[in-house]
Amino acid sequence: MNTEHFWMPFTANRQFKQKPRLLESANGMHYTSSDGRKILDGTAGLWCVNAVHNHPKIVAAIEKQARTMDYAPCFQMGHPLAFEAASKLAAMAPSGLNRVFFCNDGSEGVDTALKIALAYHKIRGDAGRYRLIGRERGYHGVGFGGISVGGIAGNRKQFGAALAGVDHLPHPLNIEKNGFSKGLPEHGVELADALEQRLLALHDPSTVAAVIVEPIQGSTGVILPPPGYLKKLRETCSKYGILLIFDEVITGFGRLGSPFAADYFGVVPDMIVCAKGLTNAAVPMGAVIASESIYNTFMQASPENQIELFHGYTYSAHPLACAAAIATLDVYVEENLFDRAAKLSDFFEQSAHQLRDLPNVKDIRNLGLVCGIELHGQSHKTCTRAYEIFEKCFWEKDVLIRTTGDIIALSPPLIINEEQIAQLFGRIGEAIQEQA
Ligand code: PLP
Repeated sequence: MNTEHFWMPFTANRQFKQKPRLLESANGMHYTSSDGRKILDGTAGLWCVNAVHNHPKIVAAIEKQARTMDYAPCFQMGHPLAFEAASKLAAMAPSGLNRVFFCNDGSEGVDTALKIALAYHKIRGDAGRYRLIGRERGYHGVGFGGISVGGIAGNRKQFGAALAGVDHLPHPLNIEKNGFSKGLPEHGVELADALEQRLLALHDPSTVAAVIVEPIQGSTGVILPPPGYLKKLRETCSKYGILLIFDEVITGFGRLGSPFAADYFGVVPDMIVCAKGLTNAAVPMGAVIASESIYNTFMQASPENQIELFHGYTYSAHPLACAAAIATLDVYVEENLFDRAAKLSDFFEQSAHQLRDLPNVKDIRNLGLVCGIELHGQSHKTCTRAYEIFEKCFWEKDVLIRTTGDIIALSPPLIINEEQIAQLFGRIGEAIQEQA
């Protein structure tokens, strides 16, 4: 196989191409590697295959749609599945959030939500609100908006100037105080006060358009909010007329045992960004679910024959993606997968924390079916320990894990069973021990 031409994303291309790790097929909870091994999927692909690989209902819906109509534009046109998918998604979202703008992935979703926020204030005659606030270590995809509000230095520093007028809140990870917490960490709710402090001390609050956070920071290595933290952000945003955006690209669709993290935390933002699990990752799709009041503000701001929002993608509400989304959302409900995740979360937590005394384990953090295992780095090398464990897991233990820096992140499909959870953590434990 010639590996020369594919410039791989977020990959050490030269290292990878010396010994490629290739997945050739998938079924249920497993991938099959190119050398014929069944690999247990501990990461739902990339946090996205929430239901199960190759779900027959989703596959059938995509096949049928591909035969019926390959593509239809959604600029001044439409097709029925787009409206059906939007209605189903709205019905699953927290009450009040029921206007759906489709895009193709999480990055486009984030940029779409930020643009809606800026435009929303402008059409209300409040154009002075131009600032956007994200969080340190936040991941909001790779568009210019997303990397600007994002807080992972490695994803920003190659690209020079990002958007102006952006600030970042501190992240709530504090291993010294909260190490090995089960579920939400006890300490750190006061970090949410940083929002109001910065608004008053640094920025005039009337210049801020939106705050965007992941309810649980996933890609950076699983950082959980202390109880009350998100509620405090909500209160501060409401107090100063700032829109709150939850980036639920990872937490959406059952990861915490509820449709969205907003439901889990009982905090309703003004917009939710989702993607990944929306179609069980079978066809790329993202969405912004905005409040009815944001939508109505746009509808009331101009004559009926005018476009209200100058934004959209050729593939917004692509028919194949809509077919996949409708089938996927049905599967979640019919198979009760969110409840299943909620019920499994205790066993998942116990299994995760059994690794606590293994060599080099610095912290374990978990909620729902998400877990981060942070390791002490090797002093002479940077971030190689988790990578070596990842390789060992793939080649020798037949499990797929994800690493970021020296943190292992796990987010299996919600269909995983107790035996597979035990297998997943058991094999990771062996790899940690053997690597030490
Ligand atoms: N936002 C969050 C919270 C994510 O975790 C991701 C991807 O992992 C994105 C946005 C970007 O999504 P995509 O890779 O589909 O563009």
